Amino acid sequence: MSVKKKTCPHCGAMFRLNPEQGIGPYGSPQRICPDCKETYYDREYREIAVNGIDPMDKWAVSPAVFKSCAIPMLLGIMILGYMIVNARFDVLQAIFVLMFLGFPSIMIVQDVKRRPARLQYLKEEAARSEERLQDPQYAQMLKDLGYKVPEKYLVEKPIEKQENA
Ligand SMILES: [Zn+2]
Repeated sequence: MSVKKKTCPHCGAMFRLNPEQGIGPYGSPQRICPDCKETYYDREYREIAVNGIDPMDKWAVSPAVFKSCAIPMLLGIMILGYMIVNARFDVLQAIFVLMFLGFPSIMIVQDVKRRPARLQYLKEEAARSEERLQDPQYAQMLKDLGYKVPEKYLVEKPIEKQENA
């Protein structure tokens, strides 16, 4: 769906990024190359505790599906409108209308069904992000990369007192 090509800055290996649930990518910008196992940084990743969730990723239809369906559906509606205005039935035009409206409709219905899984994934990823940010060194690393890290993550937390006295 929204597959992106990535290149490792260390070894030049090209690999495809297939983001989970077709949204994002979410996660730590600190990545490990699948080829040479070196660490590299990719600012395209959204760290939820810092960047939040892209509101579009909560839509009933995910942005990638929405984008790939918009143009064919528009064409389908235009041809349908043309047929109605001219009050003429043309088999070829009808086939185009069915194709342009039919396939995107199927894609959209399937995508709407996947929404609970997307929301669940975002919830889990938000918790993982919050956990990563508990490490001030990690927070500082994000800041150095240019992420707008909230101050609360950057300060070293005092060691909590034992309260079972
Ligand atoms: Zn590499």
